[in-house]
Amino acid sequence: MKTKNEDLLNRADVPTERATYSGAGEMEFFLRRVRGLPAAAPASLASRSIAGRTGHLLRNSSLFSFLLLLISFSFLLLSTPVEAKKLKVATTLSDFASLAQTIGGDRVEAESIAKGYQDPHFVEPKPSFILKLHDADMLIVAGLELEIGYLPPLLDQARNEKIRPTGAGYLDASVGCDILDRPTGLVTRAMGDVHPYGNPHFWLDPNNGRVIARAIAAKLTALDPAGASDYAKNLADFEAKLTAAEARWMARLAPFKGTKIVTYHSSWPNFAKAFSLDVVGFLEPKPGIPPTPQHKLEIINLMNAQKVPLILMEVYFDKKDPDFVASKTGATVVVIPPSVGGEPAAKDYLSLFDVDVEKIASALEKRK
Ligand SMILES: [Zn+2]
Repeated sequence: MKTKNEDLLNRADVPTERATYSGAGEMEFFLRRVRGLPAAAPASLASRSIAGRTGHLLRNSSLFSFLLLLISFSFLLLSTPVEAKKLKVATTLSDFASLAQTIGGDRVEAESIAKGYQDPHFVEPKPSFILKLHDADMLIVAGLELEIGYLPPLLDQARNEKIRPTGAGYLDASVGCDILDRPTGLVTRAMGDVHPYGNPHFWLDPNNGRVIARAIAAKLTALDPAGASDYAKNLADFEAKLTAAEARWMARLAPFKGTKIVTYHSSWPNFAKAFSLDVVGFLEPKPGIPPTPQHKLEIINLMNAQKVPLILMEVYFDKKDPDFVASKTGATVVVIPPSVGGEPAAKDYLSLFDVDVEKIASALEKRK
């Protein structure tokens, strides 16, 4: 029997073999849509009969026809700007979708593949993602191989050159960001390490959020020059709000500067750097490898020796191990969302930080 450990190793090492789909029929439907084949059934007898009755009524009332025509025209005039084709932005992470929607405003329709309450390393590919990618004008990814387990096969099947890495609509959000834990030696995926090119959770630094927002504005402007002034205005508004929020978050966490913390997965180095927290260990022995009994013992010893008051864990892990370690160290476990939508209150990029900062600050406050 395979252990959970081996299973995770396989997930990280042989990503393309993990692609499973929920049903052959559903898959066929989506592939037909992607290939432009008809998928709709002919109109039913019932709807034809309704159409016939309506036609009869119209023929018998010229005034009614005229009014109907007038109403249709006014709707057409009113609805033209609203129904202008929106730029479709697909993203892997909900955080990028939030930023793209904020910068794109009414001109853009942004949607993410992963949900904020899912582990971003292990997203189950679904046929509906293929259709989303097929229809997209732009794709935003985290890069650094965060999406290696599910995105390449989806892109192959989506047949959309625009959003491939060589396409005009592709945006790697990591470019220009402060990326931590960059490997210095030879890069290997040995031991199932899922951070082979540096830490891919970089959006958890608000300044990286600023960099990503600027990159999104530039890309949207290149794809849709008519919206340039809208994108510039939305970006300026966002940056002003972000700068004000940063001052608020810094002030809230200022009393806890330098606090030592242990986190479950290494999702928080950028966050910790931004807010002067000190990550001294992880419950996972390596990113992507679940806690082992021996590693838990080492972490308990380390936490007791260094008097670590806080264990931060992401919403999608089991609380059993953090609770066990907390029971042996007296530390507080704080469960926080690492992405937009990880819990309802984290509804966009800025409120994600509002939630995380407040949970950490109030947990540390209670210990004083
Ligand atoms: Zn990770």
